[in-house]
Amino acid sequence: MHAEVLAIGDEIASGRLLDTNSQRLSRRLEEMGVRVRHHTTVADALDACAAAFRHAVERAEVVVSTGGLGPTDDDLTREALALATGRNLALVPEALEHIRGLFARRKRPMTPRNEKQAFFPEGSRVIRNPNGTAPGIDLRVPRPGRGPCRIFALPGVPPEIDEMWRDSVADAVREFAGTARVIRHRTIKCFGAGESQIEAMLPDLIRRGRHPAVGINASQTTIILRISAEGRTEQEVRDAIEPTVETIRACLGDLVFGEDDDELHNALGRLLAKRRATLATAEWGTAGLLADWLGEAAECRGWYLGGLVVQSREAASRALGVPPDVCEYSAGRPLAEAMAARAHERFGADYALAVGPFPAADPRARDPASVYFALAGPGGVHVKVHPFAGHPATLKVFCGKAALNLARLALLEGR
Ligand code: ATP
Repeated sequence: MHAEVLAIGDEIASGRLLDTNSQRLSRRLEEMGVRVRHHTTVADALDACAAAFRHAVERAEVVVSTGGLGPTDDDLTREALALATGRNLALVPEALEHIRGLFARRKRPMTPRNEKQAFFPEGSRVIRNPNGTAPGIDLRVPRPGRGPCRIFALPGVPPEIDEMWRDSVADAVREFAGTARVIRHRTIKCFGAGESQIEAMLPDLIRRGRHPAVGINASQTTIILRISAEGRTEQEVRDAIEPTVETIRACLGDLVFGEDDDELHNALGRLLAKRRATLATAEWGTAGLLADWLGEAAECRGWYLGGLVVQSREAASRALGVPPDVCEYSAGRPLAEAMAARAHERFGADYALAVGPFPAADPRARDPASVYFALAGPGGVHVKVHPFAGHPATLKVFCGKAALNLARLALLEGR
């Protein structure tokens, strides 16, 4: 059984508003074993909207649309549905009562325009919208020579969709899909090697047609492996995924830092918490990224003591206490080393992590294509250098993550 999700509205088609409805609905459909094959976005134009419904009915058994059920002239979903399926619109008195009641409870006058929302394509069922004026439309469309397609047209407002989904749509889809399959995903997250390098380390897992399927992609310099399986039961799917997870972990070793919602700062936090150790940071160039990530991960757990964010030699010298001669005449390695050592001392932390200045901020850098990271800890100060190369849009994030990874690997090695 396949589904199509249809986002209707000028705001979406023009890019003024991000289509989060399709994302949330696709996730929900997949959770119940209904695969989404198409997302369609269409502007508030009657012909285009009707054509989108017709195409969707041709290629999917379940169609869920959002938007365009409001009372205004540009809300055309009900008309488009009627046009696409060759039905008339008819007044549903209970829907009108619901809308009237809602206006009365809110002590707001109901305009004649709102009556439009009580018209439904003939043969459709009204989907209750407990707290909104736009009821949804549930329509079964027969298809010659094959099973029917079921359309669920929902309003655009995300909390209303959530409520309607929980209230009745989820059960209706489940019932219609019958023996729906279970689809589950697990993601393994890696840092420290490129996408193709990681793929080459895996034994032909990322092959079309394999079950479970393994996909790879990079997001903000983290490499993500996504394992997807389909089966009859939750247990069957979990059992199918597990051996692939084990193979990936065995092949990639310490490149893997976590799973699913894990980020590098969570992984580092777990290692610190296990050792009952504390961490402080000193950043120059990453504009507080480390403090932001670690602060969030360490919320109320006490292992992150804080950090200093500097953007100039003067600040590094004054706020961090890096000796003026190091600030003035050294660059790269000694500077990162001194920043970590000072943060270590000033915060009284077990470890201190420093990101040195980016080459552009450091005209004296002997190696202008490198950025230096340092970790001060019980065993002294450990420095690592990385090429300062990559897409400008992700360089800052890369440097922040590279610093966290330095600390993570040091802790894993027992330093
Ligand atoms: P209403 O009765 O509130 O007008 P409607 O069905 O007409 O409901 P729209 O007017 O199309 O819905 O959208 C209402 C609001 O819902 C939009 O202004 C927008 O904030 C949000 N919205 C609509 N579609 C989407 C979408 N695809 N993703 C995220 N938000 C959306």
